[in-house]
Amino acid sequence: MTSPVRFDRGHTDDLMSFLTASPSPYHAVASAAERLEKAGFRQVSETDAWEGSTGGKYVLRGGAIVAWYVPEGAAPHTPFRIVGAHTDSPNLRVKPLPDTGAHGWRQIAVEIYGGPLLNSWLDRDLGIAGRLSLRDGSNVLVNVDRALLRVPQLAIHLDRSVHTEGLKLDKQKHLQPIWGLGEPGEGGLIRFLEDENGIEPGEVTGWDLMVHSIERPSYLGRDRELMAGPRLDNLLSVHAGTAALAAVAGSATSGADLRSAKQTDKLSIPVLAAFDHEENGSQSDTGADGPLLGSVLERSVFARGGSLEDRARAFAGTVCLSSDTGHAVHPNYAERHDPTHHPRANGGPILKVNVNNRYATDGSGRAVFAAACEKAGVPLQSFVSNNSMPCGTTIGPITAARHGIKTVDIGVAILSMHSARELCGADDPFLLANALVAFLEG
Ligand code: ZN
Repeated sequence: MTSPVRFDRGHTDDLMSFLTASPSPYHAVASAAERLEKAGFRQVSETDAWEGSTGGKYVLRGGAIVAWYVPEGAAPHTPFRIVGAHTDSPNLRVKPLPDTGAHGWRQIAVEIYGGPLLNSWLDRDLGIAGRLSLRDGSNVLVNVDRALLRVPQLAIHLDRSVHTEGLKLDKQKHLQPIWGLGEPGEGGLIRFLEDENGIEPGEVTGWDLMVHSIERPSYLGRDRELMAGPRLDNLLSVHAGTAALAAVAGSATSGADLRSAKQTDKLSIPVLAAFDHEENGSQSDTGADGPLLGSVLERSVFARGGSLEDRARAFAGTVCLSSDTGHAVHPNYAERHDPTHHPRANGGPILKVNVNNRYATDGSGRAVFAAACEKAGVPLQSFVSNNSMPCGTTIGPITAARHGIKTVDIGVAILSMHSARELCGADDPFLLANALVAFLEG
């Protein structure tokens, strides 16, 4: 039985809009929420009492979102089917005292967030985005999406050894963007952002700001078979998970889904969990290593009249697909990859395996994802690291260990991971989304 929902290149077009609208994790969850609202989901507050009802709901907390759809006939012990992802990407973030400069150049003081390819931030026109916290306790999303800043690379005439010894960037000295001329104190950054957003001077008392490339995502290649853009790691998965959840909820609501004909004991509750702070270890109130997902799932069980026993039964039957980017084989560095595992662009989603639990996948998890791909008519590839290379990790093992939930690490193979502009196959985003639909349908 194949899935009724089929995404195509229109999904990749929409991913490009999603990326452009989401220069920070706060914007990413707002973009996801906007799409879920259109699909009939409604926000619930963590501070309210939750009542049991069917339909789509979501919780926003900072740069994280958890959304779920309770179908007709769901019992308190009905298990969940979760797509996990992360909303954050490596970048440059604004320090508490941002206004700096030297020799007539006005600059912004930045910290390094996560592990970016530092060179990729040089000589790009950058905007600034994030969240301003106001004196009255409210938060405002801001996005100055025009050429505002730049980290200029040193001219080769002043750095003749760059080709023989490599580019050496000091994280403190060499990455402070310039944003104009003048003395650092004049027209300070926060004052500038207040002006830009019509906020009274002095009302901003806190901020979480970061810079982003203003270059738009684009198709690339002889036949436009590739796509280049920022934050593919991991907004590609957040976007695919959002689209898949909205589609599954839509087909359930319209009755097109087989769900209505399913017996209650075969039902599952589809969930999207997109966390912040994966790039620095996930340990935060909005990270995968925090209580957010467990709290939301538990409260959903209790809101349907469930007991701790029901919670244990629901969690024991739950499966999570942790979706994140992986490495496509790089034609110029093929020796860095395992010689027999060469994920290719547009070859379909990848199953990520590491026997030392850097990824949570095991054989039975592989079977779950293989079944979803088969149902969706989507090819499946496998990724494993070259034994001589350290293996990356993601939210999968954390989710499995923290909640005792069976978890499978999957994703899309890209090039230039952690660059300010990454590259993937233009078909892979919708192939992933089709597989996620099949998985969420249970
Ligand atoms: Zn990632």
